[in-house]
Order: sequence, then structure tokens, then C-alpha cells
Amino acid sequence: MKVIIVGSGIVGSSAAYHLARKGAEVIIVDKFHQGQATAAGAGIVCPWISKVENPDWYALANRGAGYYPTLITDLKEDGESGVGYSLVGAIAVSNDPNELNDIEQKVRRNKEDRKEVGEISRLTSKEAQTLFPPLRDDLEAVHVTGGARVDGRLLTNALLRAAEKHGAILHTGEASIIVTNNKVTGIQLNGDVISADSIIVTAGAWSKQLLSPLGIDLQVEPQRGQIAHLKLQDDQDTSKWPVVLPQSSHYLVSFDDSRVVVGATRETGSGFDYRVTAAGIKEIMEEALLVAPGLSDSTLHDVRIGFRPAGPDILPLLGTISSLDGLVIATGLGASGLTLGPYVGLLAGDLALGEEIELDLTPYNPLRDTLVR
Ligand SMILES: Cc1cc2nc3c(=O)[nH]c(=O)nc-3n(C[C@H](O)[C@H](O)[C@H](O)COP(=O)(O)OP(=O)(O)OC[C@H]3O[C@@H](n4cnc5c(N)ncnc54)[C@H](O)[C@@H]3O)c2cc1C
Repeated sequence: MKVIIVGSGIVGSSAAYHLARKGAEVIIVDKFHQGQATAAGAGIVCPWISKVENPDWYALANRGAGYYPTLITDLKEDGESGVGYSLVGAIAVSNDPNELNDIEQKVRRNKEDRKEVGEISRLTSKEAQTLFPPLRDDLEAVHVTGGARVDGRLLTNALLRAAEKHGAILHTGEASIIVTNNKVTGIQLNGDVISADSIIVTAGAWSKQLLSPLGIDLQVEPQRGQIAHLKLQDDQDTSKWPVVLPQSSHYLVSFDDSRVVVGATRETGSGFDYRVTAAGIKEIMEEALLVAPGLSDSTLHDVRIGFRPAGPDILPLLGTISSLDGLVIATGLGASGLTLGPYVGLLAGDLALGEEIELDLTPYNPLRDTLVR
């Protein structure tokens, strides 16, 4: 079985890794467009505190977060460690005890069907500050030990290297898909034709333009996210600091190298406008320093831009297309692709092989919006 994967972000690299491990012949292609979402993603893996109520999203996010430990073990077996994954826990912070009561209740309900949530506890403002020193001193917290963070760049590179060890081949260039008699048969790449039995589209926010020449109107758009990396003074040990989740769409995520990542903007309708804007920086800095004034003296080390693949709703676009044999679509992971991506990539690979899927994929039908209209 020969499978071509178009797009080597978190979803594509995971699909490549899993397929190559299963012995499939794998070719993965990437144009390395500016603004790959995976390379900009903050790296929070903690769906349990999320405000999203959609059960189909939760079913996938729960499995996605719960799949990480298995993936990390498998990658270690393949000689890949150091992907920035760590179970540092997460704190939902607020100065409103009622808000924290609601969050605590929700997390406790979630724990009933997922032990990975870990231990749940309430923290005073002092206890919260002990875990995350720059925090504002009137913020109390709900602490969840099962929250994790991952470095999307390191993980993707590890998946690709491990896939290559299992025989996958990585090409650079912009692919277009070839269709013959209602079946995908290969791609055009840098003037060459590469044939395959199946093609997986993991082209993120660029998936719409890849599929439109085939007459497929995929409802996915780029949503720009600007995100800042702050370096702390005096080589502070930030390696065990928890993910901080205020009651907004913003957050703070710490990594091992005295670095705290803060963000991010969610700019629907941005198009592929790869720019750091004055308003973007203002928004992320104001939100971060409001919650963690202790970061005021940190150094603005880097600002990244990523285009989230935003679908018609919160659910990914995952599945096959009845009118086109051999095509699998796996995109639209929006703001939670680093949580869902490795697991969605695994499912996409299984779909390409024609294997049974443990989950009913009907809610994630890639053409669901088109079908409704
Ligand atoms: C600022 C920001 C913060 C985020 N924070 C989090 C977080 O904390 N937790 C979380 O779970 N998620 C987070 N996300 C979301 C997550 O990063 C994305 O959902 C996820 O990375 C999407 O992965 P992907 O593989 O679908 O797409 P991408 O990573 O965008 O990869 C798509 C790839 O396809 C390639 N491509 C496209 N077209 C072609 C073509 N024709 N030929 C060859 N190659 C092509 C592109 O070059 C690109 O490399 C965040 C996103 C952003 C932007």
C-alpha cells in the first residue's frame, strides 16, 4: 500500500509515522509555507478545562490528550526523546470563586470518564503563585495535574525523523492532486508525477486551495494567531511551571529554557497575511501582563505567526469522500490541533489503509457543511 501525505504539520507527520510503523510505503510532501500552525502553536494539551461543550469535540480531544503518553513511549522506542512534552499540570485562574466553582464541577464531571485528568484541587492565591511565581496575587485557581504541554516543532520533527527511520520519504515542494476516473492516483510535484493508492490531505489552512481544483469546496479558512515568547531573567527554572488558563481565550505556557509563551490572537478572516501587527502585540501583552504582572521585566524573545485551519464549526474535518476513491481528508483542527493532531493523524492513516476505526466519524464528515446547504 502506497500512501502520499500532503502537509507535514502535526497531523501529517503523525499520519506518516503511524503508517510507516505499520509497514506502508509512505511519501510525505511539504511546501513549508510561512505560518505553519504547528510551528507557532502554544502547545497546551488539556481539554478538560476547556469551555467547549460539544460532545463530539470532547470525544476526540479526550482521546487525543490520552493518546500522548503512548505516542511518547513509541517515539522513545524509535530513538526520539526530548519533544518538550511534560505533564506539568494546569491551573484555571480567576478572582471570582463562583467562576472557579463552575470550572471545578466541570472538571470533576470530566474525570468520571477519563482518569488522565489526574488530581483536581483548589488553590489559594498564595499556592497558585508558588506554582507560577509571576501570577497576579489575587488570582485563585483550580489545579489539574493531568494538564500537559508539548513543543509542536520538536514533536513534528521527531515524528518525521522516526517515520523516515521506518522508510518514509520526505519531499519538499507544492503538491497538486491527480484524479483519474473518480479516483486519486497521485500527485504532481516539482514537474514530476508520483503515484499512490491513497492520498491524505493534511494541508492545514491551505487544504481548501489544494482541493478546489478537484471540485471539492472544503470549508476551511486560515485564522491568524500571533503568539509571543518571553525569556525570563536569571535563568529561572520554568520547567515545571503549570499551564495557566485565565477565563479568556488567552493563556501562558512555560518551557524548560526560562521561556514563557503567551498568546494568542484569534484573527478570523485574516487570510494568509503573515505579519506581526501592532494591535496583535498590544492584545497579547496586555492579556499576559494582566494575569502575570511578574513577567513585565522579561525579554520579548520571539513572536510567531500561525494560520490555524478553522473549519465550519469546532469539529475537525476528518474522513473520506464518497465521490473520490482513495482520498482522506484530515484538517480543520482549529485551536486544538496540538491536542488532537497526533490521534487524528493515526485515524487518518487507518482510513487510508481501509482499517476499522474505533470511533464513529459521521460528525466529522469533511463535507458536512456542503451537505447541509
Ligand atoms: C498561535 C497558535 C497557538 C496554538 N496553540 C495551541 C495549543 O496550545 N494547543 C493546541 O492543541 N493547539 C494549538 N494550536 C492549534 C494547532 O497548532 C493547529 O490546529 C495544528 O497545528 C494544525 O496542524 P495541521 O497539521 O493541520 O496544519 P499545519 O501545521 O498548518 O500544517 C500544514 C502543512 O501543510 C503544508 N502544505 C499546505 N499545502 C501544501 C501543498 N499543496 N503541498 C505541500 N505542502 C502543503 C504547509 O506548508 C504546512 O506545513 C495553536 C495554533 C496557533 C496558530
